[in-house]
Amino acid sequence: FSHITTVFLLTIYRAISLVSVDLPDTLPLGLLDLDIVDKIQLDPNTTTQFSIDYGQLSQAAPAAVYCPSSPDDIAALVRFAYTSPRYFTIAARGRGHSVRGQAFAPGGVVVDMASLGRGRADRINVSSDDAPPRWYVDAGGEQLWIDVLHETLKHGLTPRSWTDYLHLTVGGTLSNAGISGQAFRHGPQISNVYELDVITGKGDMITCSREENSDLFYGVLGGLGQFGIITRARISLEPAPQRVRWLHLVYTNFDMFTRDQEMLISKLEKGFDYVEGRLLKGKDVSSSSFISEEDSEKVKLLADEFGAIYLLEGAVYYEQATASMVYQEVESLLKQLSFVPGFAFTKDVSYIGFLDRVHEEDTKQSSTEHEDVLHPWFNLFLPKSRIRDFESAVFKGILKNNNPVGLVLIYPFNKNKWDDKISAAIPDEEEVFYTIGLLPSATRENWEYLDKQHHEILSFCHQEGIEFKQYLPRYVTETDWRKHFGRKWHVFVQLKRQYDPKALLSPGQRIFTTPL
Ligand code: FAD
Repeated sequence: FSHITTVFLLTIYRAISLVSVDLPDTLPLGLLDLDIVDKIQLDPNTTTQFSIDYGQLSQAAPAAVYCPSSPDDIAALVRFAYTSPRYFTIAARGRGHSVRGQAFAPGGVVVDMASLGRGRADRINVSSDDAPPRWYVDAGGEQLWIDVLHETLKHGLTPRSWTDYLHLTVGGTLSNAGISGQAFRHGPQISNVYELDVITGKGDMITCSREENSDLFYGVLGGLGQFGIITRARISLEPAPQRVRWLHLVYTNFDMFTRDQEMLISKLEKGFDYVEGRLLKGKDVSSSSFISEEDSEKVKLLADEFGAIYLLEGAVYYEQATASMVYQEVESLLKQLSFVPGFAFTKDVSYIGFLDRVHEEDTKQSSTEHEDVLHPWFNLFLPKSRIRDFESAVFKGILKNNNPVGLVLIYPFNKNKWDDKISAAIPDEEEVFYTIGLLPSATRENWEYLDKQHHEILSFCHQEGIEFKQYLPRYVTETDWRKHFGRKWHVFVQLKRQYDPKALLSPGQRIFTTPL
């Protein structure tokens, strides 16, 4: 009884303090009458924290931050917004690792998904079906992939498809695609989902899958948060390997580098389990901790001689007991590749050590360094046939004098691993397409210069008729969004009309700015 009394008094106290600080005039007063009022935070210290993201390129404060304890709480807020005559927007915020304000809700309400209980055991459940036999994990949309991994490994299981960095939320990456070096084999993360619980822009809680409410299911995957808030995703699992043979192979010839990558992603039965690649030049060459100082010096000399080098990054998963056999298989695969002789570097690491590699690198930098760093990142998908033109015009042209150039990722996917019905836009024309990730760090002084270069790259692609798509796209006009989604645009608008007709959700994507 005393617990109930305390909660009651606290709620009254919170409600009184909300009234006393005045509700911002962008929010309807009726919000104060809801029994979720104690979960709404208005103080500037909190709203300021939610007005920036990882990119640090722009700022837009919400009027309030909402800290739900359950999916029902989120549904209550969205239902209220849907029926309120006073328009205000709502953005789910996962980890806020967008770089262009995609999780902002200027003047509206940001839902802090973490308050559902990040890392909470009852929000990550591993189970199985008998027919067809399959293992899966039910993970809350707010959960970080690293926590999902830790939990599934307790059962000897793992998701199959990843992002390079695991400290992102399930809901955040499934709203985009979730790509990494495993996607050539298993598709992106959005190809590895069985079922979703979604709260639509009308406040309805809907379970959807390929069989049930399939339009919503496909729409939400890669749907940039436009049709609903993901509160649970059922993700497919497979047995987890114990160890990883991790390789860095150095190329000086771009054609050989891409030819080998394409050969490796065509081997779906036996071969690498992970394929990525990078451009390295100037100061970036010696920044890797993968190789010894002596090897690093060798690589640096090569890069100086050729102006730039390409690094093919591969990985082969294995069980400890099969180590010597796997080593031999890797050796025979290496014989088929055309990297510079003597420039193959290998490492053996645990499975989790491999998957969590970016975080480990990241934490080596001090937190003060992070605060001052801006991230004007830019990602493209390009058809395989145009990758050579891109290399000449962009790496050897537009970015020629950038030193450091920052992290530049280059690796291919098999289109048939991407379900055509999902919202995510990819180049349509060819069976293989590449991702190019330009991921520089910048200062307040130079970020606009880098941004200008990204515009130049887009102009180049337009002029040359390259059928590109932006990944983690940012556009502001309807014409650009229409072009981005291409033949999927019509369905995208229809879904918006059906599931979020008032255009309440994820306004930071800037796709729909008024009710439909
Ligand atoms: P947020 O930034 O919080 O949100 C992103 C968008 O999704 C917003 O529009 C938001 O409203 C919406 N949203 C958030 N949660 C939900 C939900 N539960 N339901 C519906 N909508 C929701 N991407 C890759 O594919 N591969 C990578 O290897 C990769 N590496 C990265 C490394 C770093 C260091 C960073 C900063 C980003 C990386 N990304 C990568 C990009 C990343 O996947 C996206 O930015 C992703 O959206 C970030 O997840 P988040 O949880 O921070 O989402």
